[in-house]
Amino acid sequence: MSDTTVGGVASDVPMVLAEQVTKSFGSHEVLKGITLEVKRGEVMCLVGPSGSGKSTFLRCINHLEVLSAGRLSVDGELIGYREANGKLYEMAPKEAAKQRRDIGMVFQRFNLFPHMTALQNVMEAPMRVKGLPKAKVESSARELLARVGLADRADYYPAHLSGGQQQRVAIARALAMEPKLMLFDEPTSALDPELVGEVLDVMKGLAKEGMTMIVVTHEMGFAREVADSLVFMDAGVVVESGLPSEVLANPRHARTQAFLSKVL
Ligand code: ADP
Ligand code: MG
Repeated sequence: MSDTTVGGVASDVPMVLAEQVTKSFGSHEVLKGITLEVKRGEVMCLVGPSGSGKSTFLRCINHLEVLSAGRLSVDGELIGYREANGKLYEMAPKEAAKQRRDIGMVFQRFNLFPHMTALQNVMEAPMRVKGLPKAKVESSARELLARVGLADRADYYPAHLSGGQQQRVAIARALAMEPKLMLFDEPTSALDPELVGEVLDVMKGLAKEGMTMIVVTHEMGFAREVADSLVFMDAGVVVESGLPSEVLANPRHARTQAFLSKVL
């Protein structure tokens, strides 16, 4: 084990650690004890049938849902709780907001602010939250738009961009807060097929640069090429996980086989 440190945290601390994560809505137990780990710089693809709890799991990581039981930590910090003297205390909203700023999320629907240009969308959070000078935020935002291949679309409103371009702006907007973890919830599912590739290419680039990512997707080509691990979920449990090439070539469980036969 390495004892080097990154930002004061030992670098062998996993970026995401889920231990027996459980989530119920009323009497409906949607997550039934999810245990998994994503190391720093790794890409995990999370796949499974509709309703299996994939979005709920990502939402728990990003403070959009509160766990019913279990533990979830990002970069060694419990999500939403602080531990002291062996007890857990709920974080103050301000503390939780700070933790959440380090986690970027991209949804199936692009959710851009319609009354703002691409550039303004990317500048909004850093302007509001970080209180940096406008010129500095703007030059970083232009760099991010260039990075997702949209330098020439900075002044376009979302309505005048294709779905693929809007999704790339959404990725640039998430990156503007310099997250240490990116969560993608079916980022290409709402796109026309010919626009899927341009979004996946941006995500591949991010992975190459070492971004830690959890990607919920049905794009098995992406999983095979980019992911370090593939987790198959069904009905709130992890059915199997492993190297994408192995899980895809030799799924061990009937439920995984049935699912893959539909998406491959
Ligand atoms: P997936 O993303 O794998 O399709 P979800 O996490 O969206 O699955 O949903 C898992 C289950 O949790 C579904 O049965 C869904 O209806 C239920 N669910 C999700 N969010 C809520 C909520 N806010 N209230 C009640 N039930 C919910
Ligand atoms: Mg979902």
